[in-house]
Amino acid sequence: MTKRGGKKPTKKTAATKPVRATDAAAEFRLNLTFGESRRPVTVLAPMTPLDLTELLPILQQFDNEVVSLAEEETARVGKPISCCAGCGACCRQLVPVAPSEARRLSALVASMDDERRATIQRRFADAVDAYERAGLLDRLATAHQLPDEQARGELGVEYFRVDVACPFLENESCGIYPDRPLACREFLVTSPAENCRDPGPDNIERVKMPAQLSETLYRFGPTGERQPAEWIPLVMSLRRAEQKADSQLPRQPGGEFVQKFLSQLSGGRRP
Ligand code: SF4
Ligand code: SF4
Repeated sequence: MTKRGGKKPTKKTAATKPVRATDAAAEFRLNLTFGESRRPVTVLAPMTPLDLTELLPILQQFDNEVVSLAEEETARVGKPISCCAGCGACCRQLVPVAPSEARRLSALVASMDDERRATIQRRFADAVDAYERAGLLDRLATAHQLPDEQARGELGVEYFRVDVACPFLENESCGIYPDRPLACREFLVTSPAENCRDPGPDNIERVKMPAQLSETLYRFGPTGERQPAEWIPLVMSLRRAEQKADSQLPRQPGGEFVQKFLSQLSGGRRP
C-alpha cells in the first residue's frame, strides 16, 4: 500500500489557456465536474519567473479544490470520509514525492527553528537507517522505475512493515499540514480508520479524485516538459535535496508553467 495512484477519475474538465493574462499574472478558469458535483476553480499564477519548487504552492491550492470536490461528491453519495486530525496510521505508508517537493520539504526543514530542525533531521536520518537495515533503501531509491502497480504495492507493504512514522508526524497529526505533499492531500479513505493499521487492497477504500495532480507532477520536468515519472519516498527527501544542492532549477514565468501543467493534467499536448 502506498499513498500513490488511485482509480481513474470519472470526469474532469480543464482549461489550458488563461482567460486573462497581463504582464503581472495569468488567470485560468476551470469547471471541474465529478459525478454530479461541480466546481468552478480559478488558478492564478504570477508572470514573474519561478522555478518548480516555487510553483508548488499554486498546485497545492489547486489540489485542495480538487480534493474538496471529491469530498463533496463522496458525501453526496452517502459515504462519509474516515480521515480526521489525530489519525496517522497512513503516515507510515510509503509517501511518494516529486523531486521538486523533496527540495521544498528540505527548504522547509532548513527554515525551522534550531530545536525543531534538529528533531526533524534526526527523524529523517533514523528513518533512512531503518529502511537501510531492512534492506530496502536501494529499492526505494529506484521505486519509481518499478514496472507496475503490483510491484509498487508489494514494496509498499514491505515499507509499511518497517513501521516508521513520517518525520513530520506529531501526535498522529501532520506537523506540516499546509505544506504537505500532493500525495498526502489526495489520500482519503471511506473504509474504517482501524483498517489503515493493516492496509491492503481488500480493506482500504480510497476516495477517487477528479484529477490526480500528484501523478502529473511526477511527470512534469523542470521546465514543464513531460518526462518519465520520477518520485522518491518522502523519507529520502533531505538526502536527495542534499545530493542535488549544487544544481539550480531553471525558471520561467509562472503562467507558462501553469499552462503546461494544466495541459498535461487534461491529457493534452504541451502547448
Ligand atoms: S482514516 Fe486512514 S487514511 Fe484517513 S487519516 Fe486515518 S489513517 Fe490516514
Ligand atoms: S507529510 Fe504529513 S500527511 Fe504526509 S505522511 Fe507526513 S505527516 Fe502524514
